[in-house]
Amino acid sequence: MESNAETIKRLKERLEQGHLKTVIIPHISPDGDAIGACAALSEVFRLKGMGCHVLTCDFIPEYLHFLKNIPSAISFQEKPETCKRHLAEADLIFMLDHNTVSREGYLEEWVVSAPGEKVIIDHHPDPDPQAYVISDTRVSSTCELLYTVISRIFGTEVITPDVANALYTGINTDTGGLSHNSSRPETYRIIADLLELGLDKAYIHERIYQMNRISRLRLIGNVLLNKLEIIDSYPVAIMPITRQELERYEYRDGDLEGLVNIPLSVQQVLVSVQITERKEKVKLSFRSKGQIPVNEWAKAFFNGGGHLNAAGGQMELPLEEVVQKVKETTPWFFEQFLVKSNE
Ligand code: 5GP
Ligand code: MN
Repeated sequence: MESNAETIKRLKERLEQGHLKTVIIPHISPDGDAIGACAALSEVFRLKGMGCHVLTCDFIPEYLHFLKNIPSAISFQEKPETCKRHLAEADLIFMLDHNTVSREGYLEEWVVSAPGEKVIIDHHPDPDPQAYVISDTRVSSTCELLYTVISRIFGTEVITPDVANALYTGINTDTGGLSHNSSRPETYRIIADLLELGLDKAYIHERIYQMNRISRLRLIGNVLLNKLEIIDSYPVAIMPITRQELERYEYRDGDLEGLVNIPLSVQQVLVSVQITERKEKVKLSFRSKGQIPVNEWAKAFFNGGGHLNAAGGQMELPLEEVVQKVKETTPWFFEQFLVKSNE
């Protein structure tokens, strides 16, 4: 199999052919890592005089709109025809922070049928085979990996303060403020490089952690006070959230970001599951401590997947039935996990 270094070299040669049109796509319900990566890469392409559009299948949370080029990202839900045209015309389609086209929502079928070559830059396991796959599950975040990709292809001179700020946003948010997934010394070396290149850490922290609305605090407060439940005899916290509650607290995209991690701050809680009722489906978010593989639980019962300690899924069932399913499958999951960890 081709190594990442070889793929990066091949991508460099392709990009050097010039006159390329590119499209950059984050995953559905994008987070700080996906959007930080889109902002950084699109800014590098812009600096290099290359045509580039960021396309999303849904909406980018408001708190990430401060990042370079993000306000001009095009949503398929607002401008489907424009998205289809850019996809049809693109020479290269960059898929950032996801391993498969099925994480691209409405864009999926247009990406699949587009003639351009696809480039995955990601840190999730088992990426789809595509023309260029740069993937490493050991990195903290896609932004950490993207730092290496950009500096090998273009040199660090394209890493302007805007690019450094965008990359750090991804590294910081995907590691829970450098608390999890961040034991690799390389992560900190890259942050040190970013600081030398003009990263404004205080500004990013302010934009990420000090831009709350009161209604968001009340939404989270309500869930923790009234909705959080511990499953009988298991170290599992669940938090079911209805659409009515989201409406009552003026929910906006991104308002629930980070909530699922909070129950893990209780010593006895080893797994946290947030179950959120959306328009057409129920979305699940799983988080765990240590070696508990919540991605296996998400994959086995909830049409999902992800990482060992952070996974997600979705169900087209009423909220109460999904909650029931989580409760019913909890003994199965712990049995599986215990058998595996004793092998
Ligand atoms: P989150 O809980 O933040 O939405 O997702 C955590 C992680 O779970 C993501 O980084 C992604 O790897 C994975 N994930 C979330 N939702 C899905 C899904 O519907 N399908 C798959 N395969 N993975 C998901
Ligand atoms: Mn990520």
